[in-house]
Amino acid sequence: MKKNTLALLGGAKCCEIELPSWPHWDNRERKALMQVLESGKWWHGENVAKFEEDFAAFQDARYGITTSSGSMALEASLLGMGIEAGDEVIVPPYTFMATATAVVRVNAIPVFADILPDTLCLDPADVERKITARTKAIMPVHLAGHVADMDRLRKVARAHKLRLLEDACHSWGAKWKGKGTGSLGDAGVFSFQVSKNITSAEGGISITRNKALAEEIRSYTNCGRRTGGAWYGHFVSGTNLRMTEFQAAILLAQLSRLERQTERRASAATFLDQSLAELPGLRRVKPDKRITRRACHLYVMRIDPETLGVGRDRIVAALQAEGLPCSPGYGTPLYRMAFFRQGKTMPERGCRPFAAAEVDYGQVSCPVAEDICANGIWLGQQLLLLPRARLRGVVAAVRKVLTQAERLR
Ligand SMILES: *Cc1c(COP(=O)(O)O)cnc(C)c1O
Repeated sequence: MKKNTLALLGGAKCCEIELPSWPHWDNRERKALMQVLESGKWWHGENVAKFEEDFAAFQDARYGITTSSGSMALEASLLGMGIEAGDEVIVPPYTFMATATAVVRVNAIPVFADILPDTLCLDPADVERKITARTKAIMPVHLAGHVADMDRLRKVARAHKLRLLEDACHSWGAKWKGKGTGSLGDAGVFSFQVSKNITSAEGGISITRNKALAEEIRSYTNCGRRTGGAWYGHFVSGTNLRMTEFQAAILLAQLSRLERQTERRASAATFLDQSLAELPGLRRVKPDKRITRRACHLYVMRIDPETLGVGRDRIVAALQAEGLPCSPGYGTPLYRMAFFRQGKTMPERGCRPFAAAEVDYGQVSCPVAEDICANGIWLGQQLLLLPRARLRGVVAAVRKVLTQAERLR
């Protein structure tokens, strides 16, 4: 058999990429955890307060409100912004389900606008087309760590008096024209779930520059209490979304590593951008030039099945056979998920707002999102922490598969 035969067709593997283990920890976490344990103060104290302050500052915001998860931070932020039953919130369809279900769970209606082919983030022109008299907010997702066009989205929001909530759950450390994501709209949300670039297994935060909004969001996460109010004084229908001291202690230790890791992933992504630029059958995904610090939760490639003559799933299988850990990523735009598709007819499954509003997600079409769902390939954040020599193996595997794609037909 020829030396360069594709591994999927019986040839030798081109690389054997072992992902760095995740999460990372060392004595910083160990010490911080023991300190909390032995202090006996396990609940919502110094560590939580310090992490909220430090993380908000890291992203250039003023206030931070930690929560039990990113999903819950999204819900508390929507409630804090005054989003009510029947309001419409514009979201992208190429994202994790929580972006849209947070809207449904506060009884509002997600309205899907398409994304841009270069950045995979909300298309401000399509957002404008989707605005109605009921629209109350726009929720861009900084997908993979790319940043949505916040200049234009801010303009649209201002012109139509809409709130702007950034789902920044892929973009810890990212900066847009020198300012951190999450501080660019009214509020921004980050997740610390275990797959994320900074983690306490579960956890989330909402950040903002607006003191009154911070107080509202805090109230929803803290049983409806008011700062300075009575312990048994409850003012809104909040719940308990608080984080523990253990989580905050781990996050403080993790935060001390985030800047270096962010730079390392960005440098790997730039290397991959350059090394993969000339390959046939790859269509570039380009980070916006206004991003001044690139954060990478994922490295997204997009194939052109016409040039290659085979589909994405076959390419992913071939890459995996070569020893490259990769995945197709989100394979379905959210409006095609059963939850949305059948929402109108299934109010008993928690789809009441759709039923009332007669929204039919079967009619929605976002061609750019559909294209990336069909043709995207993801490399995860862990892979971007590999040393340069291993990244060359990644490039070799992609080159080997794409240049011989016709053999996969
Ligand atoms: C992870 C994630 C969330 C939700 O975070 P959890 O902490 O898992 O609840 C929301 N939006 C996006 C885009 C995410 O990737």
